[in-house]
Amino acid sequence: MKILVTGGAGFIGSHLCKFLIDQGNQVVCLDNFFSGQKRNIEPFLNNSNFELMEHDITVPFDVEVEQIYNLACPASPLYYQKNPVETVRTSVLGAINVLDLAKKLGGIKVLQASTSEVYGDPEIHPQTEEYNGNVNPIGPRACYDEGKRCAETLFFNYNREHNIPIKVVRIFNTYGPNMALDDGRVVSNFITQALRGNKLTVHGDGSHTRSFCYVSDMVEGIYKMMLSTDFTGPVNLGNPDEFTIKELAEKITAKLDGSISYDAVPAEDREGDPERRKPDISLAKNKLDWKPNIKLDDGLDKTINYFKEVI
Ligand code: NAD
Ligand code: UDP
Repeated sequence: MKILVTGGAGFIGSHLCKFLIDQGNQVVCLDNFFSGQKRNIEPFLNNSNFELMEHDITVPFDVEVEQIYNLACPASPLYYQKNPVETVRTSVLGAINVLDLAKKLGGIKVLQASTSEVYGDPEIHPQTEEYNGNVNPIGPRACYDEGKRCAETLFFNYNREHNIPIKVVRIFNTYGPNMALDDGRVVSNFITQALRGNKLTVHGDGSHTRSFCYVSDMVEGIYKMMLSTDFTGPVNLGNPDEFTIKELAEKITAKLDGSISYDAVPAEDREGDPERRKPDISLAKNKLDWKPNIKLDDGLDKTINYFKEVI
């Protein structure tokens, strides 16, 4: 199959490109390198089954493909808050452009990489797909959260109005090799800080929680969703093992000789930062026969090895 992966030079996108090429597909990677890295796709640049389309998804485009995975959008708060209007445009115009392309190509399958951020700072725990979320529409995270919520709206409207076979996955915190060193997300930040011998910047008292999914598990879940029939989602994909940020910092320092202490950065510096997050993945288990397999300790070891190579 010839498959379009938007955001294919990013962290998850580059793993998805590799996975799809390894399955014998032809992959077109559309990316403008806003938060992606050439390094991530370098291994495929000479592969005849890989094509790079350097393009901004907010500008309409045309390419003959049989399936679309739409991942183009910065995912780290540091990046998506750099140019908030552009973040909204990327999610909303990007969704319209891929959906129009899917329609033009006769109604091909198109998958949207949505996010646990559609739940905002959640009042229920763990989060199920039925929960409509608690998003502040004017807060600093809204450019990402509301952009992604509107993208989901567009996907479901194209499905209802034009019968486009859509797939919506809500991705929870994912980590692994190919994250950018300066990407600002907690796993990449902590590993980079620890490897450089700096203190780990734990926000507040480190009591916020996240549930971290290793990237190979995530890619498998996304792929299984694309294969599914008669199922649009939205479906949560993530690892339900929940850790405090303090526990994560302790794990990473222990793996790097435990010689590093950490600072407390005021939590107010991260307005709207969700306090707790953990996916309920019952739907993914039932509909996709999917659950993550990689434990945080094992995933961190693989990620640390990668960061040691590229730092
Ligand atoms: P990433 O920032 O590494 O990758 C995003 C890619 O999209 C980058 O290569 C970037 O250059 C590209 N991009 C951004 N704006 C673009 C534009 N206007 N035109 C073309 N390309 C553009 O992020 P990631 O972690 O790989 O996330 C991939 C997708 O998964 C995103 O849509 C993100 O919202 C979603 N997601 C990720 C996580 C996570 O924990 N990693 C969690 C929830 C949702
Ligand atoms: N965090 C932290 N130090 C950092 C980066 C993040 O303590 O250097 C915390 C942040 O406050 C949040 C959690 O780690 O509670 C996850 O943040 P991240 O930016 O990775 O992703 P989010 O889930 O907030 O989008």
